[in-house]
Amino acid sequence: MTAITPSPAAAVPAGELPVAPGALHAPVIDWFEEHARDLPWRRPEAGPWGVMVSEFMLQQTPVVRVLPVYEQWLARWPRPADLAADAPGEAVRAWGRLGYPRRALRLHGAAVAITERHGGDVPRDHAALLALPGIGEYTAAAVASFAYGQRHAVLDTNVRRVFARAVTGAEYPPNATTAAERRLARALLPADEPTAAAWAAASMELGALVCTAKSPSCERCPIEGRCAWRLAGKPAHDGPARRGQTYAGTDRQVRGRLLAVLRDAPGAVPQSALDAVWHDPVQRARALDGLVADGLVEPLPGPTYRLPLT
Ligand code: SF4
Repeated sequence: MTAITPSPAAAVPAGELPVAPGALHAPVIDWFEEHARDLPWRRPEAGPWGVMVSEFMLQQTPVVRVLPVYEQWLARWPRPADLAADAPGEAVRAWGRLGYPRRALRLHGAAVAITERHGGDVPRDHAALLALPGIGEYTAAAVASFAYGQRHAVLDTNVRRVFARAVTGAEYPPNATTAAERRLARALLPADEPTAAAWAAASMELGALVCTAKSPSCERCPIEGRCAWRLAGKPAHDGPARRGQTYAGTDRQVRGRLLAVLRDAPGAVPQSALDAVWHDPVQRARALDGLVADGLVEPLPGPTYRLPLT
C-alpha cells in the first residue's frame, strides 16, 4: 500500500458533487457483475466469519498472498469459537508471512469476544461489530456490508482512490482518511441497502483491478466518460512527494525474521537462535523488545522465547 500526502483538491464538500451519484452506481455495479474476481470470501459458504477473516488479512496484504493462508485458516478454524479455543500464538503461527502480525492477535481477540459475547456468531449490528476488540471503523463497515448486505460507506485505499479521481478530480486521495472523504463516501451511497452493498464491493474492485495506483486502465473503466480527473486531462499530483514504503533494513524486516524462527519451532527457542537472524545486536534487541511489547512473543527464563500461549 502506498501512502501519500493530502491534496487540496481532495476536500470538495459532499454537497457540491460534480457528478450525480446515481450516474456512477449502475455502470460500476454492472461492471462488477461481469468482471468481479471469484474470491472465496465472496462465496455464500464463506459466511460472516469468512468475510471477517478476509478483511483482517486483506487490509495490508495483496489478494494473491492472502488466498492460501485464508483457505488454511478457515479449514483449521471454521468458526470463531474454534480459533478462540486455540492459543493466540497459534494464530500468529498460522498468519505466516502475511505481514503486520498484530492483526493475527487482534483477530484472535475478536474471535474470543464473539464467542463470549455473541454465542459464537459474528454480530450483525454495526455498533456491536465496532465494539469488538481489534475491529475499527473500516472492518466493521466492511463486515456489515459484505456479510450482511447493509448500507455503510466502506472506505479502503482502493475506494478512496476511485472517489478521488472520479469525483474529486485528484489523482490521489489524502494520506489518511479525512472527514471530507467520509462525507463524500456517504453522499455517494445508494439509498437502498442491496444497491449500497453492491456499490461498496464494486467500487472497491474497480480500484483494485482498473483504477490502480500507478497505471489506471481508463479505457476499460465503466465510468471513463464521467471521471473528473480524466475529463480534466489527468492533472499531475501537485501535493508533496508520495511516500513509498521501504522494508529492507527496517525493524519490520528484523521482526519478520525473528518471528519466522519462532513460527518454525515447535516450542521455545534459545536466544542464540534469534541472535543468528540479524547482524546488528542493537536493532535485533529493539525488534525483539517490540515483539514482546506487542504480545507477539513471550519471554521465558534462559532466556528462551516462544509464541504466546495466552
Ligand atoms: S477513468 Fe481512469 S482514473 Fe477515472 S475512475 Fe476510471 S480508471 Fe480511474
